[in-house]
Amino acid sequence: MGRLKFAPGLKPEPPSPRSAEYAAWAIERDRRDREYLASVPANIAREEREISLALEAGKVFVVNGDMHRVHHWECPAIRLQMDREAAWNGYAEQELAATHHSITGPHGGPPMPVLMTRDEVEALPSYRTCERCSVDVSHRRKSRTPIGRRDTRPAIFDSKHLGRSVEHADGTPMGEVVRVTRTIDASGTRVTLETTAGTYEMDGDARLLIVEKVASPSPHETPTTPHNPRSF
Ligand SMILES: [Zn+2]
Repeated sequence: MGRLKFAPGLKPEPPSPRSAEYAAWAIERDRRDREYLASVPANIAREEREISLALEAGKVFVVNGDMHRVHHWECPAIRLQMDREAAWNGYAEQELAATHHSITGPHGGPPMPVLMTRDEVEALPSYRTCERCSVDVSHRRKSRTPIGRRDTRPAIFDSKHLGRSVEHADGTPMGEVVRVTRTIDASGTRVTLETTAGTYEMDGDARLLIVEKVASPSPHETPTTPHNPRSF
């Protein structure tokens, strides 16, 4: 949305109610408020058309938030998002209340639902399905992290990590951890990771994958763990 132009001589914030320009300011503000309210039905109609077209194109899933929560478009949990009249109802009133003392006036609208096809949902690196509508997609919870791996970062490595297999974030093996040396300076934590495959210098917050331990077949099995406790 472009920047609103002000009528000549009018500032966005209210002048003193006793000043000469106050009446003109208040009239302009009220005109903008009315203009905004008058535009709401057309916005609702346009958004409803957009949603119908998306549904016709097979975009029947709604994906919300950073967690990529996936809903079926008819899910009751997102009714207030899909029903544009209901969405605008609460929103327009709040906008008016929030901007009443500014001539920039209310603007914008309630966020539109993000509609996707099944293929688009499946292409997301991660998502989790809503428990209310439990959509029919391949995962209940799809994680960026491959099965059998856990996200980690070298800054937290300690003696427990010795002997563990680690991988770069893209899954490239880095060998088993032999020694970890941390250096802390003004720019943060740097880690020197020595493994059976080589030596890696990295930022302490670099994203790595650690291979999950498989349940040990025998409780008496002792892992061969090279270690040097003084490295920590
Ligand atoms: Zn749902």
